[in-house]
Amino acid sequence: MNIVLLGFMGAGKSTVAAVLAEKLHISSVELDEEILALSERPTISAIFSLDGEDAFRRLETQACQTWGLVSPVIVSTGGGVVERSENLDALRQRDALFVFLHTSFSTLQERLEGDSTRPLFQDVEAAKALFQKRLPRYMNAADCIVDTDGKTPEAVASIVLDEVHRLTGNRHKTLQPSAMVQACTCPSVPSATTEVCVIWGDPVSHSLSPRMHNEAYRELDIAEKFVFVAAQVQAQELEQAWAGARAMKFRGITCTIPHKQAMMPLLDELDPLAKKVGAVNTVVRLSDGRYKGYNTDVEGVVLPLKERIDLAGKRVAIVGAGGAARAAVFGVEDAGAEVLVLNRTLEKAQALAEEVGGSAYSLQDADVVEGCDVIVQTTSVGMTPHVEDSPLPSSVLRPSQLVMDAIYTPWETRLLQDARKAGAMVIPGAEMFVYQGVAQFELYTGCSAPVSTMKRIVSESLGGTWHVKREGGL
Ligand code: NAP
Repeated sequence: MNIVLLGFMGAGKSTVAAVLAEKLHISSVELDEEILALSERPTISAIFSLDGEDAFRRLETQACQTWGLVSPVIVSTGGGVVERSENLDALRQRDALFVFLHTSFSTLQERLEGDSTRPLFQDVEAAKALFQKRLPRYMNAADCIVDTDGKTPEAVASIVLDEVHRLTGNRHKTLQPSAMVQACTCPSVPSATTEVCVIWGDPVSHSLSPRMHNEAYRELDIAEKFVFVAAQVQAQELEQAWAGARAMKFRGITCTIPHKQAMMPLLDELDPLAKKVGAVNTVVRLSDGRYKGYNTDVEGVVLPLKERIDLAGKRVAIVGAGGAARAAVFGVEDAGAEVLVLNRTLEKAQALAEEVGGSAYSLQDADVVEGCDVIVQTTSVGMTPHVEDSPLPSSVLRPSQLVMDAIYTPWETRLLQDARKAGAMVIPGAEMFVYQGVAQFELYTGCSAPVSTMKRIVSESLGGTWHVKREGGL
């Protein structure tokens, strides 16, 4: 069996074909080379300009029909191969599996604008019209579609291999399954060019982040490019550690207690939301070598909520007024929610609520929660070993509510158990942990994070279960 890559110009077909060929220890070819072999012209542009597009298309069809390459092979096609159905029919007869590398037009535009070797892109509107005309043809022809936006060629190739495995159930003898299996399972190890990411804090030895990130690198087959380690750094050692990390050009620094605030003045740039929250948990080296700080605890809270509910206009009660509460308050306010802050120390709740024009309550006034759509619990009440404690009485919980707890040991706190009994939808703190890591992974690597792998690592490590469906409630 042969793998044929389809896609618009600039989708990365040639590069991905080369990566795939290397992984599988087989050849990759450009269909354009086959076309040139059939022509007397020295280049594809010369065929276009001297003989016209029709002549080029005829040669392209001929190349699809007569290509004499030895299978298995990875074929990178020209963007216009879908213009003629006989091209696809001819390739199909060569036992081809079609993979469409889908790239958004805006990404293609970024990649190709100003590239004089791509005359079709000199007129962006015409290129867009062509893209829109061809898109359904790629979709119809494809056995599988792989989204390439924001992914490295290695990550795309890895997904293509997974898709090929999935579609063929490993039965394709001609694609040298042993080589494929080897390519997929052979652990890639760090090298001299590997980018280093670190989590530092004190204590840090309990951290799940190294395992979660390293498994995710392996899943995307980028473990040769990135490695994630942990370092115990005490409060008074922070500046020394920072000087070292900077000199060694670490790619990413995950900051945990006690460094989330102390890192801020050391950085070159701060994400506006991190500035508002007043803490960073993620530091990334930018392409110009400067370091920028983010707070992905915000995504940790907001993404799981947004997966289940549109936060705009909802009443959201944040319980607590510490670091996790700040990420929650600014995150949900940014998503358009009305914020109520409840805290043991009322003054702290008032100060935080004031920053977002929300209202503040003491934990004694927990009844106010009854009228809220969402509750985000961010105090340490209910954490192991005090698993019978809850900051809210069960009487304030309603079936229509969505209740999230930042605590992830135990997996399901007393509050979440009470909420579930009341018929509400619940989100365990482990999900917040996964999603802060997902946002961090994407900042460090530029790749879409393999969320299900990261969830698996966290549930395996904490001994919890992800409930796909809610039980009762909304
Ligand atoms: P923090 O800044 O120290 O804040 C602690 C909060 O808990 C404060 O609001 C404090 O109220 C309240 N509190 C502590 N003991 C209490 C008690 N006995 N009764 C009532 N309220 C009490 O801590 P944090 O960094 O925000 O962390 C809070 C929790 O979130 C921890 O369990 C942490 O593990 C969890 N967390 C989870 C994630 C995740 O990814 N899932 C991320 C970050 C944090 P006062 O203001 O009155 O002292």
